[in-house]
Amino acid sequence: MSNVVNHWINGSEFVSTSGRTSPVYDPALGVETKRVALANQVEILAAIKAAKDAFPAWRDASLSKRQQVIFKFRELLNDRKGELAEIITSEHGKVLSDALGEITRGQEVVEFAVGIPHLLKGYYSENVSTGVDVYSTRQPLGVVGIISPFNFPAMVPMWFFPIAIAAGNTVVMKPSEKDPSASMWVAKLWQEAGLPDGVFNVLNGDKESVDGLIESPDVESISFVGSTPIAKYIYENSSKYGKRVQALGGAKNHMLVLPDADLELVADSAINAGFGSAGERCMAISVVVAVEPVADQLIPKIVARMSKLVTGDGRRGCDMGPLVTREHRDKVASYVEIAEKDGAVVVVDGRNPQVNGEAGGFWLGPTLIDKVPTTSKVYTEEIFGPVLSIVRVKSYDEGVALINSGAFGNGTAIFTNDGGAARKFQNEVEVGMIGVNVPIPVPVAYYSFGGWKNSLFGVTKAHGMEGVHFFTRGKAITSRWLDPSHGGINLGFPQN
Ligand code: NAD
Repeated sequence: MSNVVNHWINGSEFVSTSGRTSPVYDPALGVETKRVALANQVEILAAIKAAKDAFPAWRDASLSKRQQVIFKFRELLNDRKGELAEIITSEHGKVLSDALGEITRGQEVVEFAVGIPHLLKGYYSENVSTGVDVYSTRQPLGVVGIISPFNFPAMVPMWFFPIAIAAGNTVVMKPSEKDPSASMWVAKLWQEAGLPDGVFNVLNGDKESVDGLIESPDVESISFVGSTPIAKYIYENSSKYGKRVQALGGAKNHMLVLPDADLELVADSAINAGFGSAGERCMAISVVVAVEPVADQLIPKIVARMSKLVTGDGRRGCDMGPLVTREHRDKVASYVEIAEKDGAVVVVDGRNPQVNGEAGGFWLGPTLIDKVPTTSKVYTEEIFGPVLSIVRVKSYDEGVALINSGAFGNGTAIFTNDGGAARKFQNEVEVGMIGVNVPIPVPVAYYSFGGWKNSLFGVTKAHGMEGVHFFTRGKAITSRWLDPSHGGINLGFPQN
């Protein structure tokens, strides 16, 4: 009988009595290994209440106390990240080195949040009028909700909660039901780091939990990452309930390759960014836009590299793991069929891969499709798997116009040795995160992560100073301490 992943509420495991669960698989084995509880109303309210009750004391904890807890969390995480990586691989399927990589990127946000005393400093202006001073502070919001996708069970939550907690908020974290155990592990680590009970709670569940967070008057903000249709729903619904919301959505990232680019670098980058994490990254490159005559020279280089990739169980030192569920694997594979019907050329077909793993795993090998029509669903939809498309264009202008015509605006990259072209590209392209000869331009923790258009609903991106602003409210205080020369009645605005 499989075990159940429950909730973490007010500093201990909260055994669900909802009677509803969802399967969690080991994707490399293709078997259900556990089930995750799906919260009911009682459990949703319990998680929110725990966070609400913990807020006053945590908000008033000194900056140095908060900083020490975050610092300790960072140390524990750094020492024990191997354990977390194994959990991620066993539920998501990504290879162990990649699981460690996502933890390291998340850890960078924890390290950024250690600097919270500096990040929360306000301004002070003396004598804005004679004897009058103005200063500003930033205060925590209260209970904040975080809802994360399956593809980064450690990193995406860490885009938000280190800053939220450091700023004095309390958290209800709703992980993806596909890989919920990472958040439970993190909750225990927080406790070990000395975080008071109730400051970080994990609520496992589905739409009911998400709606419960959005509709609760006790939850101040929603930070969401996931697919575009759900992100749009979260944004609209949270706004309806008067919540502060940042909702990061899906992506379709293009790599524009100019004829003067270093094609060895391009081929390496296309492989890394196209097939890393089996293409289940929001910053994966899914389309190579090749300015003629690049494609005919580039494709053999990509194919040669693809032939060396080993697909298999992430615990066996392979390059690429399985997809997260059988259903998702089949959906991604169906795009290869669509490509064939739409007249594209399937150069490498990953549908029957040789794998270093169990036969029942959710396998799909690296797939390369050339001459993809831009009207095909293979081009217009987010595939979220190891399927790399090539679209051929005649010029730089045609390439940029194509990228700008897309519905998404998460990430993009240009490959060229022409600085002027790269500069023009970064200026003209309508995308939030841009790489110049860098295929996956994920900003470091002290910058902010987020796209444009259907890749981000709301104005505030994740982490960096935008994250600090999202999780705090500003106040401006105008103050006068009376002295003997206070000047008497004056009905106008003070002017000097
Ligand atoms: P998803 O949208 O299916 O799920 C995300 C979260 O929403 C989960 O916690 C899920 O339980 C919840 N959810 C699902 N259906 C819901 C509903 N009807 N109502 C309310 N909540 C619901 O996304 P996923 O498949 O887990 O993740 C992959 C997607 O996330 C891809 O589209 C990917 O591009 C995107 N993503 C985007 C970014 C980014 O930074 N823009 C980062 C990572 C992933």
